[in-house]
Amino acid sequence: MYHKVSPGKKEKYRISPERFISQMEYLSKRGYQTISSDELLGVVRKRRILPEKPVLLTFDDGYRDNFTYAYPILKRYNFRATIFLVTQYIGKKDGWGKGKEEILSWEEIGKMRKEGFSFGSHTHTHPNLLKLSRDKVLSEIRDSKRILEERLGEPIKFFAYPYGKFNSQIRDMVKEAGYLGAFSTLPGKNGIDEDPFLLRRILIRGYDTKFHFILNLKLGRSRL
Ligand SMILES: [Zn+2]
Repeated sequence: MYHKVSPGKKEKYRISPERFISQMEYLSKRGYQTISSDELLGVVRKRRILPEKPVLLTFDDGYRDNFTYAYPILKRYNFRATIFLVTQYIGKKDGWGKGKEEILSWEEIGKMRKEGFSFGSHTHTHPNLLKLSRDKVLSEIRDSKRILEERLGEPIKFFAYPYGKFNSQIRDMVKEAGYLGAFSTLPGKNGIDEDPFLLRRILIRGYDTKFHFILNLKLGRSRL
């Protein structure tokens, strides 16, 4: 799981393009192949077989730098990714943080989609769902799905919980809204018996060294 890919000071949620290139190059040289969320779900639900070295790359929040920096790098290695979008702020600035980060436009999303990138919902306004009423949670989950489906003309099957916050009611609401799976920030690799609505992800932090990256890849955690 990544967030921002751009130059600037190292942050937990911002990786430099140089470091991102070195990680993608590592994956490519070691024979990893990117898979889609659909393919991962196929394993969890139907025990489908994956490539020998599968990796699913996801980006939360839909920052414009995903298009400016990450997308050309990923294309260079013939990799694909899934990006989780916050529909209220598409083509604007993030309205949940400091309001300074540029967010992808529909046009940029369309270009990446043509190249095989996938998009999922990260709610309509990026709230902490644990703090909302049941009705508000439902509209966050449903509105974002509907807006993405109208604009992209395809079913939106995957959801990612903002701030990784969820409880069992929220999990059930995501399922009832018609999603096929949801990504948490529970760390680790996904096994064949994973709950499709609590899929695990490994946060790749902007200041992680290559050693951390390799440990994450091999062990599903950044410590020995
Ligand atoms: Zn987020």
